[in-house]
Parts: sequence; structure tokens; C-alpha cells
Amino acid sequence: MRALCWVADDELAVREVPDPELRNERDVIVRVRRSATSGVDLPLLAGPDPLLRAGDVLGAEFLGEVVEVGPAVRRHRIGDRVVVGASVACGGCWYCRRGRHSCCDNSGADVASVDPDRGRSDAGRFGRPRAAGGFAGGHAEYVRVPYADMGAFRVPDAVGDDRALFAADAAPTGWLAAELGEVRPGDVVAVWGAGAVGQLTARAATLRGAARVLVIDRHEERLRMAERHAGAEPLDYRRTDVAAELRERSGGRGPDVCVVAVGVPPTRSVADRLAGRDVDRPDAVREAVHACRKDGVVVVLGGAQGHVDAFALGAVTDKRLTLRGSRRPDLGDVPMLLHRMARDELRTEHLATHRLPLEDGPRGYALFADRADGCVRAVFTP
Ligand SMILES: [Zn+2]
Repeated sequence: MRALCWVADDELAVREVPDPELRNERDVIVRVRRSATSGVDLPLLAGPDPLLRAGDVLGAEFLGEVVEVGPAVRRHRIGDRVVVGASVACGGCWYCRRGRHSCCDNSGADVASVDPDRGRSDAGRFGRPRAAGGFAGGHAEYVRVPYADMGAFRVPDAVGDDRALFAADAAPTGWLAAELGEVRPGDVVAVWGAGAVGQLTARAATLRGAARVLVIDRHEERLRMAERHAGAEPLDYRRTDVAAELRERSGGRGPDVCVVAVGVPPTRSVADRLAGRDVDRPDAVREAVHACRKDGVVVVLGGAQGHVDAFALGAVTDKRLTLRGSRRPDLGDVPMLLHRMARDELRTEHLATHRLPLEDGPRGYALFADRADGCVRAVFTP
């Protein structure tokens, strides 16, 4: 089959690779109908990762049709249209039994190879290196989906492919951010980053009853989308004193909840990582910590790779802030999000700004990485 593979450094190519096969009785094979670029892929494109091999298939967010079913699979049949949660989770470990699928102990297979900066292995993920389980991704004609009863979800007929696709990763990540932030009715919520996850965090906050949601970015098109589709107030940080605006619009206290959804800065070379050098520049994190009201919650989504310099720890203690983080979503919210999509409460298809054949994958990633031509997500059809 054809698949979009990582080749070397910043090079991607569409290559012929072996078709996936059922390896485990809980697997299904899915024929991919749509797959989307993901911000978590960008560091892979910025420099060599010691845990990535030439020929690894990328793609963390995808949707398709079940074409083969393992003998222990109960919830799926051939022909089901399914969206597949981006976290791979076993369903049986200590974390999975508590609904914390993103912390699954069994799916991030190669614990020994995990970057020591990150502590323990977290859950496996599609289209990621061995430290995240080494599961081939969805930028391909077919994918093997392990633990299919846990991670694959039937899409209601009323929800089209371009909408349901984002129930794999971007929508549950946004929902999780609002949940970790404990967004309550009447809250003022600030979100840094108006990409897909930032927009869907803003929408989740609105659906949870936030009184005001402010989204901070510098890309006009993205800010307009956040305004139109999430009911957010846009703040262009090139033209605005963000700190002053946030105070002004929250009764002088600062936002109740601050979410940093700026993606992973592709600034850290492997040499830096191995040497433990601190090169992440967490400007948005610092701004959020300073802006948040006393006793508020700051949520950081996958925005830091390892250590960061000059972290405002004093502000965390002085203001008794709660600081929470997540790199990937759990699976439990996906059915609820699909139902909200079916009821038209949650619209996501506008995020697919560029629709391309899989053959144009390298060009799609170039557009996505450069945010060129208003690209929020490139969506591929095999
Ligand atoms: Zn598990």
C-alpha cells in the first residue's frame, strides 16, 4: 500500500510499504478515508529523532472503514465507519480502568527508550516513534488498530467524514483542556493559540458555560475562525497588550482558566535534548501564569518538550495556581463529542482548510508547518 513516511530530517515521502495485518486478537484493520496533519508531528519534521526510523508511517488523526476484525473484537463489524482515538490504550491497566487512557501503562511499548526528561512512558500513539509504541499512523491506505474495542468509535450517520475526523484528537484534546481547567459556568477563559486544538478548547469552554472566551494568536484567519465557530473574542498579540486586555475583560482579576495550546515548538535539536539543554521558549506559558487570576488554573497542552528556562514558579506559589498538563487526550469523551457533532453543537470541518490526495502529503505538511495559505489542518484522502 501507499503511505506517507518519515524519511530523514525534514524529509517526507509517499512510499510503498507492506499492508498491515492483524497481529493480535483485539485488532482491526481500517481502510483510511481521511487523515489530518497534527501539531505533534512537527518536531519530527524539524530534526532527526533517535526513535524514528526511515519508513515510519506518520498520522495521528484518521477515520475510515473496518475491513478486517480480530476474533476477540466485540464492538465492531466489517463495514463500520469508525474514527480512531489518537491515544492507544489497553483498557485494562490501572490508568485505563480510571479513564486515564492517555497514561496507559501497556501501549507505550518501549519504556526503556523513553526520553528521561519526560519521566515514564505515556500511552502509545499512532504515527509516533517507538517511545510512543511505534504504531504505524493513518497517512496510509490501511492501518492496524490495536485494542479496537477501546480506541475505535462508530461514527453516527448524521456526521460527515470531515467533521468526525477531528473527534480522533483535536476535539477530545480541547475538551480535556476545558475539563482539566475545571471550566465552570460564568468563567472567563483565555486560550493561547488558535489552531485546531485552541479553537476546540475555546468551543469546549463555551459548551461548558464559560461567560467569555478569549483566544490569543497572530494569524487573522485563525482568530476569525475562533470568533465565528467558537464564539471567542479574538486577541491579536501583535496589536494588543494581551496582559492588559485580559485584566480588563475579567473584572481586573485575570482569567479564571488559562490554556496554552500553541503546539510544540520545533526548536529543540536532538543534541540539545540528549545534553538536557534548555532551549524551549515558553513565552505563552509565562504569559498565562502571569495573567491567570489568583487561585486559577493554568493548563499546558503539549507545548513543552522537556526542561524550560526561567519558569515563573514564584507566580505559581504566590497566586496559589493550579498547573496541569497533558500531551494527548483520553478516549472516554469521543462518543459524547460525536453526539454533539451529530446535534450540530460542535462543528469542525472548517479546520480542514486544505484537502489533498495522500500523494501530496509532503506539500500538505509544508503548508501546515509554515501555516501558509491560511492552513490550519491539511486533510489527506488516500
Ligand atoms: Zn491501559
